[in-house]
Amino acid sequence: MKRNKLVVVGVGHVGSYVLADAMKLGLFSEIAVIDIDKDLAYGEALDQEHATALTYMSNTTVHAGDYSECANADVIICAAGPSVIKSDEDTMPDRTQLAVVNSEVIREVMTGITQYTKDAIIIIITNPLDTMLYIAENEFGYPKGRIFGTGTMLDSARLRKIIAANYDIDAKSVTGYMMGEHGHTAFPVLSRLNVQGFGEEELDQVFQGKERLNRDTIKKQVVKAAFDVLNGKGWTNAGVAQAAVTLAKAVMLDERSVYPVSTTLHGQYGYDGDVALSMPCIIGRNGVEKQLEIVLDSQELKWLHQSAEYIKETIQVSKTGRTHHLQS
Ligand code: ADP
Repeated sequence: MKRNKLVVVGVGHVGSYVLADAMKLGLFSEIAVIDIDKDLAYGEALDQEHATALTYMSNTTVHAGDYSECANADVIICAAGPSVIKSDEDTMPDRTQLAVVNSEVIREVMTGITQYTKDAIIIIITNPLDTMLYIAENEFGYPKGRIFGTGTMLDSARLRKIIAANYDIDAKSVTGYMMGEHGHTAFPVLSRLNVQGFGEEELDQVFQGKERLNRDTIKKQVVKAAFDVLNGKGWTNAGVAQAAVTLAKAVMLDERSVYPVSTTLHGQYGYDGDVALSMPCIIGRNGVEKQLEIVLDSQELKWLHQSAEYIKETIQVSKTGRTHHLQS
């Protein structure tokens, strides 16, 4: 019998949070867990299974398995591969090494998945996100829209928290998002930021913020927010896991919610099949139902092209396996 089924691939720091959040969601009747470390997959699944005896847990069946679990999956979330690699050489940035290491992980995972399905909606979390999504989407003939990456969902959540803290209001009352790379070239689309219609020009006056709204400062603050978490605990997982599960829910309930996620561009902003990055998309039962090419102002367009170029370089590295292309 086909059930509301989720498969989580990779249950390290990020995947184990995805699993925990998904178990609490009450939307899945079955969750299968896959990891190259079979003991880890078994232990994580069993631990969650025990928790289902307790009052506030949903009766979700959870177990470890192999890629055949994907055959009847509705949604597959991929968090396989490390997020952080300690670099030996100063000249070799972690992210470049990550691109080389994780592109092989993603190829292995996609080979496993596509043996059994090209129907499930796949949500990629593995970093460097846009490059991993690009490989997964384009090297395996996966149907367009049915695969996408968490992208700037997390960066956007951080943006809204920063704006909200400045004006002492609820982050959920802030409409705004980051576009481009999930990473340090992500940029805020402040020309479209608003709080119940109050936009970039009005916010300082209406809400008397602690600091005046400044595009460069906000951009830097969002990127710094990631490092604040990393420097504190050594990895990030809670935010991105919640982002992935939010997207999975939008798919399962056919919400047609609009979120910034990463997909390959086909004509948008002048790119055609050569880069994947985050832009607002409608998310429903078929995954990305539509990419929404919002008009950006000249500064935002400049940032978009910088971000796209950076992602294209990383894609190149992951194709060639060479690590000397990237500078920082
Ligand atoms: P993160 O902080 O990104 O979650 P971790 O290193 O904690 O990074 O977790 C990554 C997980 O991915 C580990 O559990 C690891 O065993 C798993 N993994 C690595 N390579 C593969 C692969 N090829 N297939 C499936 N799982 C993998």
